[in-house]
Amino acid sequence: MTHTIITRAAAATAGKKRYFTGKPCKLGHVAEQYVSNGACVKCIAEVAASDKGKAAQADYRASDKGKAVKSAYRASDKGKATQKASQAAYGASEEGKAAHAAYVASDKGKATRAAYRASDKAKAAKAAYDASDKARAAQARRRAAKAAGLI
Ligand SMILES: [Zn+2]
Repeated sequence: MTHTIITRAAAATAGKKRYFTGKPCKLGHVAEQYVSNGACVKCIAEVAASDKGKAAQADYRASDKGKAVKSAYRASDKGKATQKASQAAYGASEEGKAAHAAYVASDKGKATRAAYRASDKAKAAKAAYDASDKARAAQARRRAAKAAGLI
């Protein structure tokens, strides 16, 4: 892959995240470098893929700073939109459907449903439904069917 040579300053001015000098980094990669810290893209990728890099990422995620960054991201509009989109995609996938079905059939899923049904929120939702036109119409249909001897 070839890149157009652009200095770090010129890339920064152009709003780019990477620049390219055409010169090898200290490990010999002829690759783009990040404007933010001058690091070689390939070096970063190699470190990230190494056991040491993975351990460092796990440590970072478990750190207070990593957790704070993650929760701030989750609370942001972008983070919320990303989560919503990935949840929707997962829910629509075969894997997501199978996981949902397994959860519904699990003891935990059953317990969660039972707890919800026993909650004030569920009772209020049921009361609201029972008082709705939709529920009354359904009841009227049932009564009519019963009167006609269908059920
Ligand atoms: Zn490098």
